[in-house]
Amino acid sequence: MRRCLIQMSFYVIALCGFSISAVAEDILFTEIEKHADLGWTVSYQSKEPIKAVVFANSPDDSRLKRWLPISSEFSVNYINGKEIATRKDGKPFSLVRFQLTPSYIHLPKSYAPFSPFSDGGMLVHSGRFFACPNICSGSENIWAMAIKAPVDDTIIVGSQTYLKKTSWWDKNDGQKFYIGKQRLNYNEDYISIVDAKLTKTVGRQLDTILPRMMSFLEATYGVIENKPMLFASFGETSDGSFGRQGGVLPNQVFMHWYGAATYHEQNPAATLWFFAHEAAHMYQKMAGQAVTPVDNWLHEGHAEMMAKKIMLSLVPQYQHFVEAKVAQAKGNCLGIMKSSSLPEQVEAGNYQALYDCGLYIYSSIEIAYPKKHGTESLWVALMAQARNGGQLDSNELLSLAQEKYSLSKKDTDDFRRLIGIN
Ligand SMILES: [Zn+2]
Repeated sequence: MRRCLIQMSFYVIALCGFSISAVAEDILFTEIEKHADLGWTVSYQSKEPIKAVVFANSPDDSRLKRWLPISSEFSVNYINGKEIATRKDGKPFSLVRFQLTPSYIHLPKSYAPFSPFSDGGMLVHSGRFFACPNICSGSENIWAMAIKAPVDDTIIVGSQTYLKKTSWWDKNDGQKFYIGKQRLNYNEDYISIVDAKLTKTVGRQLDTILPRMMSFLEATYGVIENKPMLFASFGETSDGSFGRQGGVLPNQVFMHWYGAATYHEQNPAATLWFFAHEAAHMYQKMAGQAVTPVDNWLHEGHAEMMAKKIMLSLVPQYQHFVEAKVAQAKGNCLGIMKSSSLPEQVEAGNYQALYDCGLYIYSSIEIAYPKKHGTESLWVALMAQARNGGQLDSNELLSLAQEKYSLSKKDTDDFRRLIGIN
């Protein structure tokens, strides 16, 4: 215990050196450690005694099973939609440590905390570790992170490589960092770490098509300032489950595949659509976050719409796949418009509705707009408006579409009802 405190105080000093010492008293110092043979742990340390560690994001209550307090004096509870760690006797404390379960899980509308690579490497989402002392007000946006790893592993944060340990101030949705034995691969358009199990299949496909997709997007949305980092990981499963999940954080794209050791993608067109969708996110240059969970259709629908355009332009041999996908999205969304709404669907956990209706709405706008590239110019206009203090919400986009992109009053009203705007 004492040794640990001394170690942590080193980080307190190191982190305060980043010049934000004024807030240091109100934040927790988070240290994630990959041990050589004892798995993964995380510890939270506070300068002042606290009553609770409250996690900033609780998409579900899975920490109750997957984060085990190392001391039996602590417990994690799920209260009013928040996961909270306290001492069982209610007394104040200044340090708590957890043993983590470092396997891939799907969290509702959140990125996976751990994406394992087949060689033992790991991509970790820092945002999963954001926590507040006693209470989260919702306005916290500065998190003190430190990592330690065995000496034979490499730590990669941003595009920087570290050995043994590093620390930084994190913010917003956090970022992915890597701990493992692979080196960064510098491509012309991006920096990547691709799982050895994927290099002959989707990894090769990615290297061929991703630069072309990026040039396509660059023509409209402009270059990305810094070379993005791409992580493609693969984890074997023993319960027969298989699939993939992708995501984007500022300057990072990550894709995880999971399944049997012999897993390979059955449908090349679906894989390309997946790449195109994630590539589109990289160029969205989001001016802030969607206001409500339902507003996520804005950027998911836009990414779907750009995937459609990219596929039709770069791999026209898959036109039938694209048309079927667009028709299915339209059918699904019209069904929702008839008897339900997006807020209802999101409430019921049907996030696919955001993608389907998003694609359908952008397609409708594109059809109504007499000029070319309606989706692209509408998106750029929405971001410019948001940067000038406008909201990044459904109402703004639909008003813009009606006023400047020829969307009919009937369609606009129907979409407003679908989204739950009166
Ligand atoms: Zn997406």
